[in-house]
Amino acid sequence: MNIVFLGPPGAGKGTYAKELVKMLGIPHISTGDMFREAVASGSELGKKVEEILKKGELVPDDLTISIVKERLAKEDCEKGFILDGFPRTVDQAKALDEILKMLNKKLEYAIYFEVSEDVVVQRITNRRVCKNCGKIYNLITLPPKVDGKCDVCGGELYQREDDKEEVVKRRYRVYMENTYPVIEYYQKQNKLFTVDGSSGVDSVIKEVLNIIRG
Ligand code: AMP
Repeated sequence: MNIVFLGPPGAGKGTYAKELVKMLGIPHISTGDMFREAVASGSELGKKVEEILKKGELVPDDLTISIVKERLAKEDCEKGFILDGFPRTVDQAKALDEILKMLNKKLEYAIYFEVSEDVVVQRITNRRVCKNCGKIYNLITLPPKVDGKCDVCGGELYQREDDKEEVVKRRYRVYMENTYPVIEYYQKQNKLFTVDGSSGVDSVIKEVLNIIRG
């Protein structure tokens, strides 16, 4: 099952993907996570993208497309994948079609999580992530049991550099300018399914399962 998740930062793509991959047995591929890991490891790629991520701008297409191409060719994608955060431009969407063609696969579902800017800002500025296991919390809707500590592993919770309010607003604007045309691209291919991303996690997941299980 080959799926892409679309939606502005804060639509909950990462949260939904993490739950769904457990049920579906396919990998969750987040280009944002890949870039953050590269920055944390201090690799060549990390050095190239660090400033771009801090500002909430987009990493150049050629760089982004090449890491996705490499990742999708791995064996664990045999049965499918959930791509989260890619494609973010029409050129990336076209490149994805090419990559999948080369791999003898095709995209089945483009699921768009629709949320307003107000909801996005409220959600993201309250988002905290576990430094150790990556679990995502929200100080209002999904707070940890103990302040600042992960419920699962006890790791320290932190706020992403690009989750501060002014960066969030820029990321939303960047998304609208660059990524909205991607939604239209998939609409034309009859692959687009829109889900209200502002309802609760359980109901969103149920809706996604209904879509992919037909
Ligand atoms: P995310 O976690 O998906 O919000 O991504 C965090 C940051 O990584 C974005 O603000 C971009 O700087 C970068 N990024 C992630 N995915 C892409 C992509 N498909 N194209 C360009 N930049 C990306």
